[in-house]
Amino acid sequence: MLTRFAPSPTGELHLGHAYSAALAHAAARAAGGRFHLRIDDIDGSRSRESHVAAALADLAWLGLDWDGDPVRQSHHLEAYAAALGDLRARGLVYPCFCTRADIAASLAAPHGPPNASGAAVYPGICRHLSAAERARRLAAEAHCWRLDMARAAALAGDLGWEEAGQGMRAADPAAHGDIVLARKDAPASYHLASTIDDAEMGVTQVIRGADLIASTDVHRLLQALLGLATPVYRHHGLICGPDGRRLAKRDAAASLAALRRVGVDGPALAKDLREGRLPAGYSLQTP
Ligand code: GLU
Repeated sequence: MLTRFAPSPTGELHLGHAYSAALAHAAARAAGGRFHLRIDDIDGSRSRESHVAAALADLAWLGLDWDGDPVRQSHHLEAYAAALGDLRARGLVYPCFCTRADIAASLAAPHGPPNASGAAVYPGICRHLSAAERARRLAAEAHCWRLDMARAAALAGDLGWEEAGQGMRAADPAAHGDIVLARKDAPASYHLASTIDDAEMGVTQVIRGADLIASTDVHRLLQALLGLATPVYRHHGLICGPDGRRLAKRDAAASLAALRRVGVDGPALAKDLREGRLPAGYSLQTP
């Protein structure tokens, strides 16, 4: 058993992060396995070293010890570029030059159904550019790389994953449309980087919030395309604040730093979370 906790250092960790980390830590320790830490810091404009240091301090305060050195996504850019190159050589990705405004304008016209998370799917504007136009614009314009979802999904066929304790679930990546695998401003998207790293780190069980169930559709497809192992997944419930809404990084009162400052006992909090007891006013929204 190898589990991981993978915060993005773009803000303070809150109770929801503590819950996720406590579950992943407990699953590893109960099985005599390993618990690894990964810093998802590919977004150079939003990641801060101060948040990395704070996350490590928060986990130490909770008593959630991790094995080995924290893994840094910013050190894995070559692996992401290699995977993208592989998909490119197989004609499964294409460069997209669209701005947000281009996409919004196209979506204002009649378009297809929204994806699994209710967002509109990319309308495919750059999918059919000629090779000559692509080459010309590649040299001159900012671009991201998108997966040609129809081709990729057809190549991969039917896919599913094991949801811990619940059996197999069918993956529906096609509903997401042509997702971005490398961004204009970052060398890999969350989907690509996370899928490659989970495999590279040897993660056997991915424990994360139910808000990422839809992402697992895409991660399962990328595993099939890139020949990566598929871990078991466990999507846990999300912690809601006193206002009934899911916690977000802006909820300062639920930040672990704030709880530490007011004298909360970290290891006792981690134990409570693991056993499903939440501080007064907080509730768990089950998937
Ligand atoms: N860095 C991602 C996040 O904080 C990790 C999500 C995941 O566990 O896959 O949302």
